[in-house]
Amino acid sequence: MSATVLVINSGSSSLKCQLVEPDSGESRADSIIERIGEDSALAGLTIGDLEVRRDGTAIPDHEAALRTVFDMLDEAGAHVESVGLVAVGHRAVHGGRQFYAPTLVTDELIARMKELAPLAPLHNPPGVLGMEVARRMLPDLPHVAVFDTAFFHNLPAAAANYAIDREVAERWHIRRYGFHGTSHRYVSEQAAVFLDRPYESLNQIVLHLGNGASASAIAGGRAVDTSMGLTPMEGLVMGTRSGDVDPGIIMYLCRTAGMGVEDIDTMLNRQSGVRGLGGENDFRKLRARIESGDADAQLAYDVYIHRLRKYVGAYLAVLGRADVISFTAGVGENDAAVRRDALAGLTGLGIEIDEELNTARGKGARCISVKGSPVTVLVVPTNEELAIARAAAELVIG
Ligand code: ADP
Repeated sequence: MSATVLVINSGSSSLKCQLVEPDSGESRADSIIERIGEDSALAGLTIGDLEVRRDGTAIPDHEAALRTVFDMLDEAGAHVESVGLVAVGHRAVHGGRQFYAPTLVTDELIARMKELAPLAPLHNPPGVLGMEVARRMLPDLPHVAVFDTAFFHNLPAAAANYAIDREVAERWHIRRYGFHGTSHRYVSEQAAVFLDRPYESLNQIVLHLGNGASASAIAGGRAVDTSMGLTPMEGLVMGTRSGDVDPGIIMYLCRTAGMGVEDIDTMLNRQSGVRGLGGENDFRKLRARIESGDADAQLAYDVYIHRLRKYVGAYLAVLGRADVISFTAGVGENDAAVRRDALAGLTGLGIEIDEELNTARGKGARCISVKGSPVTVLVVPTNEELAIARAAAELVIG
């Protein structure tokens, strides 16, 4: 039986688990639980042609979600003990300055990740919970944390530093760490494979547009800038996060609105972004509202697109020349209108989308730019699970 890695990706409102064979790249089982914490969750597991579903009941937290995944695996006859597991790979978001390379999950690592929770309040707590639950349920396997920050750990100093008091920054380890790095690396590597060009020869912009969203600029295989910073709040407008705001807003709210730090944190992390403006963070529902004439939903969309275009422009300038722009993650892979509007009117910069290619459906990486246009635009499905499985297997079995 081929070596298999159980990959656990505990996101802000979703839990994704996969059984992945790192050598072949094959996914043997795939489970997604969405709407964790809402009244009615969606829970599904696919193994080959078999699909198990547990929709409609509330799944209150990530611990319950992981138990549901293991239950569904049992129901499908694939007990986790009998699938040839060699490791469990965990998506880990913030490892601070100390952790960025793939790292064995120990009590000490978990304790450090908990200390870092204020830096990634939507991600580190569910991520750590996933590690704790999985370690309890699979205590004999090595568990490996694969960090979102790894790809960005050597950003150029000009991109990594904030222009704030240097002593304060050093004392509190304030710098731009960047997140979604596993996805940005995977997608940029896949783009090079798709184009049959050496990775090191390409200048790339990757737009990871999921519930969380981030952009990166990659010059010859090295990440030279990314939109997320000390925390995953900076940058693009996201599902529920504001992205860039004037930091003066925070002081203003403290002084004049009597809001405390926790109130402001909750507002910027959970009640902002497209949901804050348009009442909805699922782009399928946002689209339906726009089509029914909802002005708030339209504004949310317009602000989202405007920010995205600003980052594309900024990264074109950072890179000097881009060979390829790739869209990925839930919105980036599925929402043709977002792709069209993000890059509309940029023919003068060598960017032109072919609307027929853009709206065509397809699996795998595909080109959506006009043939012969200087900048190739791609849709590249991300596969953080495979990248995590490979990193975990490499650490455990070399
Ligand atoms: P995360 O991992 O950050 O939770 P995902 O990459 O799974 O995010 O993306 C989730 C987002 O993708 C949701 O906001 C959802 O609206 C969007 N999405 C998923 N499918 C579609 C689709 N068919 N059309 C438009 N948006 C979609």
